[in-house]
Amino acid sequence: KRARMVVANWKMFGNLALCRESLPLLAKAADVSVELVVCPPAPYLGEVGRLANRSGVHYGAQDVAEVTHGARTGEWSADMLAELGCRYAIVGHSERRDRHRECNQTVAVKAAMCIAAGVIPIVCVGETMEDRESGKTEVVLAEQLKAILQRMQKKAVFVLAYEPVWAIGTGLAATPEMAQDVHAFLRHQLALFVPAWGDSVTILYGGSVKADNAASLFAMPDIDGGLIGGASLNVLDLLSIYRSA
Ligand code: 13P
Repeated sequence: KRARMVVANWKMFGNLALCRESLPLLAKAADVSVELVVCPPAPYLGEVGRLANRSGVHYGAQDVAEVTHGARTGEWSADMLAELGCRYAIVGHSERRDRHRECNQTVAVKAAMCIAAGVIPIVCVGETMEDRESGKTEVVLAEQLKAILQRMQKKAVFVLAYEPVWAIGTGLAATPEMAQDVHAFLRHQLALFVPAWGDSVTILYGGSVKADNAASLFAMPDIDGGLIGGASLNVLDLLSIYRSA
């Protein structure tokens, strides 16, 4: 049975006070049946790691470098994340694809770096509104996936996140039916690469998940949880979303 999870992506928000307020509450709520993961800005990973220590809360980074080490000012490697106890790293978020010009190949390499270091990549894919309106959603998603899956070993453990770009930060979430359709398509694509992946890979939905729409999204058969942006900065909202999973 595949893992269910709720992942908080704080993006570049929050501070030490948020870490110290929310981690104890999250630790109290975290249950083995659904993983709870916090991805704070990288400078706070050490503090979050200390606060999460021996609780059921997992944590991860929002990005990782494409290489193991080097003269890369401002970057960090997957090994460094592993050393800090990060179980996860988000790779290929649309904000990085867009603002930092990350292409499918870059995202694929980053995912591979994570796996080599023992960090589970949460690989983000998603179409723009323009893609959707021109009927290209499936073509774009298949292309994004192919680049990543081609490099994955059969036994690799990874998480997929479907984040339609038009739903991120807009308050305009995909309907449960729209998201379910895409998740089913992604499972079909996964199974074309490795049959077992169709059933075994956790696929999260992300994009304007809130306390009041989480339950209906998470009730869909191929949606295994969520990747939460804005609503994850309020610990009570995050807990409410977590309980919906
Ligand atoms: P919002 O939940 O703020 O729409 O952000 C979604 C997201 O990008 C999570 O990675």
